[in-house]
Amino acid sequence: MQILHTIPAVRAARQEARGSLGLVPTMGYLHAGHMALVRAARDANDHCWATVFVNSLQFGQNEDFNTYPRDLPRDLALFEEAGVDAVFVPEAETMYTAEFSTYVDVEKLTDRLEGAARPGHFRGVTTVVCKLLNIVQPHRVYLGRKDAQQLRVIRRMVRDLNIPTTIVPVETVREPDGLAHSSRNVHLKPAERQAANALYQALQAAQQGFVAGERNADVLRAAMRAVLAREPLLDVEYVSVADDESLEALTTIERPALASLAARIGTTRLIDAIELGSDSSPSS
Ligand code: AMP
Repeated sequence: MQILHTIPAVRAARQEARGSLGLVPTMGYLHAGHMALVRAARDANDHCWATVFVNSLQFGQNEDFNTYPRDLPRDLALFEEAGVDAVFVPEAETMYTAEFSTYVDVEKLTDRLEGAARPGHFRGVTTVVCKLLNIVQPHRVYLGRKDAQQLRVIRRMVRDLNIPTTIVPVETVREPDGLAHSSRNVHLKPAERQAANALYQALQAAQQGFVAGERNADVLRAAMRAVLAREPLLDVEYVSVADDESLEALTTIERPALASLAARIGTTRLIDAIELGSDSSPSS
């Protein structure tokens, strides 16, 4: 496995990589969710590349950039074991030179949910992903459905800017009790970890209501809130049932919808999402 630190090194390795290339962008501290993206990329492409970069630009001033978990040696070992061909691990200065002054902003879609809760977050995400796509030039990019708004925002950017790559969404990988794998889960104390399970239970409540025929979005949101309210350790930021594409809040569900939520547990902020009424909705 090649470990690439500079853009010229990536360009040179990319020239040598004939056939299709699938890219898995990450912030590292790998878990089973990341590895599912790697498997999908490896199985469908001649080459599977990954990136590890904790992107300061997508963290707000009071957010957890400094405490975001990091373990590069472990990440590299896991990637190697999983059959990744090359990993790009840039330094911050490689991505953002002192003169850096160009940003990518996706409008409207970023006004809501995570965008509203974390001003500037998506500008950081789209700027770094645009750069990574320009640097690596993959045929396909593998993104997790857990970060549902991020997936939609990046898809919008790729379409709007005619970036020649295909976005491939990958199902959320969960712990046995349903909690979505997240690098941030490592910060949860035992009681918090237990409480975090309510996030998935809330999404399941929406899913079950939907499957039973409920189409009133307020009723589904109330069902989610009722589940979350049972957990005193949870500080709910938002609960949403929105149009699957535009992410506008729905009153009645007449087309595919996305149920999503964000909550703080202690110092840890977690998000999760589930699609309602689309082919990829889980059946349970
Ligand atoms: P991150 O390292 O958290 O920035 O995530 C890198 C990629 O992994 C993103 O496309 C995420 O959506 C995806 N990802 C994170 N957690 C999961 C999960 N539990 N299941 C599937 N994909 C995930």
